[in-house]
Amino acid sequence: MSSKLPNLRRTEAAPKAGSNGAGGAERDGAGRDGHALANEMLLGLPRNVCNNLVSKTQLVKLPIHSVLNEVNEPIPYLYFINSGLASVLSVLQDGKSVEVGLTGREGFVGVPVLVGFKTSPTRVIMQIEGAGYRILPKDLLAAMKTSPHLERSLLRYSQELALQASQIAACNRVHEVDERLARWLLMSQDRIGGSLIPLTQEFLAHMLGTRRASVTVAAGMLQKDGLISYVRGQLKIEDRERLENASCECYATLTRQLSAWKSEAE
Ligand SMILES: [Zn+2]
Repeated sequence: MSSKLPNLRRTEAAPKAGSNGAGGAERDGAGRDGHALANEMLLGLPRNVCNNLVSKTQLVKLPIHSVLNEVNEPIPYLYFINSGLASVLSVLQDGKSVEVGLTGREGFVGVPVLVGFKTSPTRVIMQIEGAGYRILPKDLLAAMKTSPHLERSLLRYSQELALQASQIAACNRVHEVDERLARWLLMSQDRIGGSLIPLTQEFLAHMLGTRRASVTVAAGMLQKDGLISYVRGQLKIEDRERLENASCECYATLTRQLSAWKSEAE
């Protein structure tokens, strides 16, 4: 396992988020390492629950291509993503993989642990570098027992990931690559904020389960129409409204369902 986590090994010395009782300070603003608490799940918890949970975590850098969970292997940590973007990948026996979910600062990585499972059925890898609050499974399970609010929040997010997986499965089978590319860019922007998405077309092809040439053509069309551009090697979303029109129905379907669940839960 450790051989697959070379980047994470370098994060061992990252500042402990809750040391010296700093959890509260981090909730209100930038911590000592300059990272403000941005994970929406943690921010949505009652202050005492959040501070208690953060005190059990370590804030670690998550470099690009860090493997957070590996398929069929034990889940060593759960991660509340604070910045950057993680991809949930379904991995086939020949080594090919296709994305079945995306997690950014709205969520966390390590869903199977919530119900007592110990291994991951998917590979979760950082596609855009960032940082996250990592916690041992036993510490998160203990915190869940003392906070119904936390438990509810975690279980709801696991449903959101399942929703993504079912929609993306249909999308990959039925919709055209240009529509899927638009859908992917919108989902990514929602999860990382800002308009710049630091990704190559090779990566996009991988994520969309298609050939690079197809993505090049699709991205070229979006660029020609002024919906996206390239700035210093990064993809920039120029016109979000028209990008939504260029997407297949899947983006709107996912957004609508998440919004409906949110209102039902309140
Ligand atoms: Zn679709």
